[in-house]
Amino acid sequence: MVIGSVPLSSTVHRTRPSPSLGSHLGSLASHFPYERSLPQDPLAMVRPFAADARSAEIAGILASTVAVGNVKAIRRALVILFDRMGESPRRYIEGFPARRWRIALHPWQHRWIRADQIGFLCVRLQEIYARYPGGLEEVVLRGMAEAGELAAPEEKCAHGLHALSEALRWGSVDRAPTVFEPPPGYLRLFPSPLGPGEPACKREALFLRWMVRRGFPDLGLWKSVAPSDLQIPLDTHVYWIAYHLGLTRRRTRNWRTVVEITRGLRRFDAQDPVRFDFVLAHTGISGDCPKRRDPEVCAPCAVRADCDLWRGRRILFSAPPRCPPANAPAPAVSNRSRVAA
Ligand code: SF4
Repeated sequence: MVIGSVPLSSTVHRTRPSPSLGSHLGSLASHFPYERSLPQDPLAMVRPFAADARSAEIAGILASTVAVGNVKAIRRALVILFDRMGESPRRYIEGFPARRWRIALHPWQHRWIRADQIGFLCVRLQEIYARYPGGLEEVVLRGMAEAGELAAPEEKCAHGLHALSEALRWGSVDRAPTVFEPPPGYLRLFPSPLGPGEPACKREALFLRWMVRRGFPDLGLWKSVAPSDLQIPLDTHVYWIAYHLGLTRRRTRNWRTVVEITRGLRRFDAQDPVRFDFVLAHTGISGDCPKRRDPEVCAPCAVRADCDLWRGRRILFSAPPRCPPANAPAPAVSNRSRVAA
């Protein structure tokens, strides 16, 4: 039983992750309760479409676009949205009434994201599929090609996400003229890591992870993009844990921080650096990590030895009840206690 914690030395923030972090992250992932966390994740709403790659891609870009805020609210919003689309998002986009984009999905709303913005995204997807037969994968690959064959993974990924952002905003990677003008706030839904402030672009990076990573729980539908080029989708939970595991000392959650954390993770798995994203995010979402030093909750944490909050401290467990040695003489029982028994 945990009864508290004691300092062994003064707590100092790490400047580098500990060498054992890779194996501890592996242990966190191998014991992770996916059956508890996956149903809460927007990815669970996309996985049923995996048999049709185009439908999964459409469901994925819609789900990642609305992946803002509380997981239950995201799920509710997606249930309504996908109900409207029927069994095949691909057929829904093919037949989408482009001239009625303002009202086609009315009155759907999730936080500040409105039905007219998602209706307009459907128009853009129609335009993209008409221009690029390979769909969003072709768009991302065109962007990565701009970075050059020998570019670093983070540069390729930034250019790929930039092309995705351009296509979703303007209907093409080169801003070819289109018939429709976007509604207010629409362009802000698709930031680019090459844009002002170098945003982290968490939702687009998440979409890429779903489409590209071959390992569970991701879909691995895009075979031409290498998982080694992916960058971590940086949400508040992933950032908090990454910071306390010494993967970054940066205080701003932007693309540079994404690159720094992914470089740190690449040391443990160069071919699949975002392999631990799901477990890191859901360790925070589920409350497995209290984001403070809590001996009771932190005791079973697989990365406690690497966590800044526990550096130089150890958990105190209560002493187990003492058992007499097997050959010890039986304790004398007084007449009084016999009577009492
Ligand atoms: S040791 Fe505690 S605070 Fe640190 S990562 Fe694990 S659960 Fe979170």
